[in-house]
Amino acid sequence: MSEKKFYIETYGCQMNFSDSEIIASVMKEADFDSTTDVKEADGIFVNTCSIREHAEQRVRKRLSELKSFKKKKPHLLIGVLGCMAERLKDQLLIDEKSVDIIVGPDAYRDLPKLINTANEGQKAINVILSADETYADINPVRLGSNGVSAFISIMRGCENFCAYCVVPYTRGKERSRNPGTILNEARELFESGFREITFLGQNVNSYKWEGENKDFDFPYLLEKAALINPLLRIRFATSHPKDLSDELLKIIAAHPNICRSVHLPVQSGSSKILKLMNRKYTREWYMERIEAIRKYIPGCAISTDIICGFSGETDDDHHDTLSLMEWAKFDYAYMFKYSERPGTAAAGKYKDDVPEEVKSRRLQEVIELQQKLSHKSNKRDVGKTFEVLVENESRKSKDFLSGRNSQNKVVIFPRKNFKAGDYVNVNVLRCTAATLIGDDAESFYM
Ligand code: SF4
Repeated sequence: MSEKKFYIETYGCQMNFSDSEIIASVMKEADFDSTTDVKEADGIFVNTCSIREHAEQRVRKRLSELKSFKKKKPHLLIGVLGCMAERLKDQLLIDEKSVDIIVGPDAYRDLPKLINTANEGQKAINVILSADETYADINPVRLGSNGVSAFISIMRGCENFCAYCVVPYTRGKERSRNPGTILNEARELFESGFREITFLGQNVNSYKWEGENKDFDFPYLLEKAALINPLLRIRFATSHPKDLSDELLKIIAAHPNICRSVHLPVQSGSSKILKLMNRKYTREWYMERIEAIRKYIPGCAISTDIICGFSGETDDDHHDTLSLMEWAKFDYAYMFKYSERPGTAAAGKYKDDVPEEVKSRRLQEVIELQQKLSHKSNKRDVGKTFEVLVENESRKSKDFLSGRNSQNKVVIFPRKNFKAGDYVNVNVLRCTAATLIGDDAESFYM
């Protein structure tokens, strides 16, 4: 066992959590063990998010707290990794004197070298974006894993250039990972006891690998993964509505172990705002895609992302969003106030002209409506039986377990003799807006 230890703290999206597992693997090769105790670390890495100003402010606050650790342990190295490192580059070294290392999302292989440079007393930085880095050959170290579900990154970067989004600038060009390495990783996870994998990418539907004689797309990959074993559940995130094809929906419908849950970010219900956002679809197009999901995959849960108060958004546009939400009956939504990000098309072209209090009011209305929709969606499930994959003990009671059904809803039910990784048929007796509560469970596939 190595004497050197690193501690990693992750902010932002699932992609960042997946990247932290790649970073852990690179560090292991460099003879560093991971620790969950920040006090015993020789290196503290903060894997950051730039998507909203608030996310960056949280990291800044954390960095100022970490300064005190450095006073007690002078050899301690502090690294800022990920999107914020990429966006701010060496400006971060100027602003944050305690930071020794800055590493962008495509330069994690360089970490051991950068650590050596920092150990020699110099500041170390690599924020070069790559056209082909996918970390395909790196076997991620599963950090904080429940041993049941795992992420697999299948592509990196994005070229959609939604007007509000910083990702194409911080994560670079879109590139897909070799399907063979993805499917091997999925197989190995299944063989070591994992029962659910989530394919991750900024826009998984545009996954494309050019083979020698043929190209491989996302429906192909999804189907091959589903065929590994019927006991392996497959999820994926995130889909762009413009690329959600009927072919993909048919593949999901044909394989019961591809989960009945599609996350389809709409962002706004107004075609005018969608155009300003450069989302490349209209309200009508989005509605047609929802109808297609319902037609091909009855019982499929649909979740979304919504931004309130984008530049130029009027009360009418906001009402278009509310009416679309009612129509689509979203099961779940991630909802945010618009936060202008430097360097994006929106920051260059539009005025951030919706007053803060209007953004807050609209967000509140969207949240209240979604809570009602989520509660209604859960009420519709009372009386039904679902196959639940057990993940953990319930947070509230040792006598209950927590898992998720195919629709990605959290289900709580009596422990009996079940354990993490079991599939259990649960009858739903009641619900809250966030959880289904069941009883009379019966297990199978033990
Ligand atoms: S699809 Fe749009 S919102 Fe999503 S990462 Fe790409 S640019 Fe950002």
